[in-house]
Amino acid sequence: MKKNVLIIGGGPAGMEAAHQINKLGHNVILIEKEHDLGGHLAKWDRLFPTGRNAREVLDTLKENMKGINCFTDTEVKSINILKESYNVILSNGITILADAVLISSGFDLFDAHKKEEYGYGIYDHVITNADLEKYYKTHNDERIKNPKRIGFVHCVGSRDEKVGNIACSKVCCATAVKQACEIKEEFKDAEVICFYMDLRMFGRGYEDLYLKAQKEYGIRFIRGRVSEVSENIDKSLQIKAEDTLSSKPMKVSLDLLVLMAGMRPSKSGNDIGKMLELSTMEDGFFNTKDDFNNLQQSKRPGVFYAGVATGPKTLPETLNEARSAALEIHNYLAETL
Ligand SMILES: Cc1cc2nc3c(=O)[nH]c(=O)nc-3n(C[C@H](O)[C@H](O)[C@H](O)COP(=O)(O)OP(=O)(O)OC[C@H]3O[C@@H](n4cnc5c(N)ncnc54)[C@H](O)[C@@H]3O)c2cc1C
Ligand code: SF4
Repeated sequence: MKKNVLIIGGGPAGMEAAHQINKLGHNVILIEKEHDLGGHLAKWDRLFPTGRNAREVLDTLKENMKGINCFTDTEVKSINILKESYNVILSNGITILADAVLISSGFDLFDAHKKEEYGYGIYDHVITNADLEKYYKTHNDERIKNPKRIGFVHCVGSRDEKVGNIACSKVCCATAVKQACEIKEEFKDAEVICFYMDLRMFGRGYEDLYLKAQKEYGIRFIRGRVSEVSENIDKSLQIKAEDTLSSKPMKVSLDLLVLMAGMRPSKSGNDIGKMLELSTMEDGFFNTKDDFNNLQQSKRPGVFYAGVATGPKTLPETLNEARSAALEIHNYLAETL
């Protein structure tokens, strides 16, 4: 008999897992709280490290979803934990008896308003990494008007005790370097500066991207933390920072400042966690059964994870986790037949 697998979250992790679990012969029901599938991937334009078009990756994931039961604009209303299954009532009124549940609820982007000293939402020319991706997709943003001096601030809402998150978000160094190159392609005369704490360019092809940013695009990298941003009368920005290599304070005037907001646990994902009494780590992301041998399993039998629900990851890492989760679920269902 076909077993029911409920997938909560229709981002890259949920979509890839749905495709694989469906291929393994199980009955998949995927729910997504937003109107469209795709999660954060749907918001990105080109992907690091190669510049691959995000739309192409998303289209493949969507193509693979054909024929799979999928409810968008849908959330979980309640979950009743039974002996070997989960009785789940959805916001659209449908009830599902799930033999296994996969949580692929991803992340929320850090709310940059919380770092008041950077002036997001206060000054006209302070934007986030997500705003810049939207601009690259639409070329429509009043705040971006032929800037001559552009700054990127790394680690916004990550590695920062003041906001209660000391963890690294893993993907924002590579995103900053990619976006710095892209902005230089568009505004060729602009001077572009990245203010970083450490550069975490760990993956294959990432170091090449960093070297290219310096050699081909002339991006300047300054090791230092921006302490304060203010606005001049002509709406340009004045930033105060400390160059931590030379230990000298510095003042720089800019026309555009891009804040590299990090990844925070998904609030609505954590609401599901509470319904299923799942534990999280200190960083707020879900805790796995074992951090080496059972990365996709939760501590509750029949409940699995894939993607950023368990901590910051790149897209290839996310997709690989989705495939692992599919196999783990398949094995679990075979054992509980
Ligand atoms: C600024 C930025 C740029 C990036 N650029 C790149 C890049 O160039 N290359 C790269 O490899 N990686 C990049 N990444 C990382 C990439 O975005 C993630 O790896 C990927 O989005 C993770 O997919 P996911 O499915 O785990 O989570 P998400 O993309 O967050 O998807 C989760 C989905 O679950 C849904 N959901 C959450 N809770 C519920 C609920 N309770 N009920 C129903 N649905 C729910 C959400 O609405 C969402 O659609 C970037 C990240 C950031 C922050
Ligand atoms: S990846 Fe880079 S920018 Fe992001 S939190 Fe880590 S060190 Fe900071």
